[in-house]
Amino acid sequence: MSFDSLGLSEKVLTAVAAAGYREPTPIQSGAIPHVLERRDVLGIAQTGTGKTASFVLPMLTLLERGRARARMPRTLILEPTRELAAQVEENFSRYGVNHKLTVALLIGGVSFDEQDRKLGRGADVLIATPGRLLDHQERGKLLMQGVEILVIDEADRMLDMGFIPDIERICKLIPFTRQTLFFSATMPPEIQRLADKFLQNPIKVEVARPASTAETVTQKLIGSGGEQHEKRAVLRQLVRSAVNLKNAIIFCNRKRDVATVFHSLERHGFSVGALHGDMDQHARTATLDSFRKGNLTLLVASDVAARGLDIPDVSHVFNFDVPHHAEDYVHRIGRTGRAGRSGEAVTIVSSSDQKSLAAIEKLIGNAIPWSEPLPETGEEEGEPRRRSGGDRRRKGERPEGRSDRAEGQGNRRRDRGESRRHAEPVEAIVDAEEAPPPPRAPRAPRPERERPKAEPVSQAAPERNRRRRDPEDRDPPVIGLGDHVPAFLLRPVRLRKTKIDDLAETLDEEAEAS
Ligand code: AMP
Repeated sequence: MSFDSLGLSEKVLTAVAAAGYREPTPIQSGAIPHVLERRDVLGIAQTGTGKTASFVLPMLTLLERGRARARMPRTLILEPTRELAAQVEENFSRYGVNHKLTVALLIGGVSFDEQDRKLGRGADVLIATPGRLLDHQERGKLLMQGVEILVIDEADRMLDMGFIPDIERICKLIPFTRQTLFFSATMPPEIQRLADKFLQNPIKVEVARPASTAETVTQKLIGSGGEQHEKRAVLRQLVRSAVNLKNAIIFCNRKRDVATVFHSLERHGFSVGALHGDMDQHARTATLDSFRKGNLTLLVASDVAARGLDIPDVSHVFNFDVPHHAEDYVHRIGRTGRAGRSGEAVTIVSSSDQKSLAAIEKLIGNAIPWSEPLPETGEEEGEPRRRSGGDRRRKGERPEGRSDRAEGQGNRRRDRGESRRHAEPVEAIVDAEEAPPPPRAPRAPRPERERPKAEPVSQAAPERNRRRRDPEDRDPPVIGLGDHVPAFLLRPVRLRKTKIDDLAETLDEEAEAS
């Protein structure tokens, strides 16, 4: 099938040809003709399938007639994250080069004023995250009565992020006569309920089994002890021993682990950036751009921040944690092996992950094989290695493990034009934290689905190794003055005998006598 047969306008077809697309992807050929017929569409498709163009291209065609009025956008696209919203805006710029449409992006983390001005001029297309959209609406700067087309993208992620009440509020503000396009990678019952509520007699277009993983991705598991520092050591080994590693996304379950893993890798000399929901927009965009351009080799990210990001050609995905939601596994590894390229996804597994791993294997319908033992990387205690796939240390930089590390980090960030905000501050960095853990033998593949057991931290490890900045493995709380007892307090003190002592002695003697 060709794009010509879908009913798109000449202007759009010219832009599509300029983008180099030869034929529509299945979600595009399935959805575009129905969108152009003004039907509601329920699209079940993951990112990477060409889903964005499946609504952007017909919207551009439909928007050629009519024009926007001040504060009354004609179309609204809701996205769960700022990055996705920005990505959709890029799609409008790319495919809308031959149109003179006004596109406004309403996302958090940037000033209201510029957004206000754009709304004031009249927007043909409004792309927004739910919270910021409602903020504008509550300020009385946005009227939703003119919205003809509503797109709810990544609905399952909206659900995960708790946006559904906001979406329901927004839907009530938009005329009932609107056309609604609803996209989700998975269709759990809550999402089905929403689809039933928001859509009228929709055309359902499903392009892949929700749980399917691309065949171009090689998946593996690697065992680790459950301690954070053990997992970080395994991660470093994985990165260093990865074959043909061009770039990699490292996923963590929690924001604070994103920060810790990022700092750890940075201090071990890797070229690394971090992406999570708490970063300001400027920092997120800068990090993402650096990664896209190849200036950063590794990107540590949380699920929310990385969901749906279109980063073509990621060679590796490392799951620092087994995701709690099985669907997240599918999304994570979908970052690699895109557009028919091959990719590798390796998941670090400790004994506490068995339940989550079983859920993933059930969802994807097969067992993920265990990796071959990793080659020794020869990492020496106390000093991060220098030469590696992701190594970026420059000449003249001082080695790790020094006491003025914070200053050195600042220098490195300035060196590469990153702001301090770029990597958000974390718990105070303790020198000894990153001294590599006692060496562990690489694990052999487990032929019979044996799960790794959590290993205790070696008692032989030097004292400094036990000092962690991780909340999980923090030192026991210091009681009183801790080790720092002034000498005068340690002098022996002669105590005067009191009446109570006399009484105690008498009682003791009586007890002995009886
Ligand atoms: P999406 O699923 O919207 O994130 O798109 C994933 C990638 O596919 C993007 O980089 C698009 O530029 C690309 N793409 C979209 N449509 C096509 C097409 N018909 N042919 C080739 N690439 C496409």
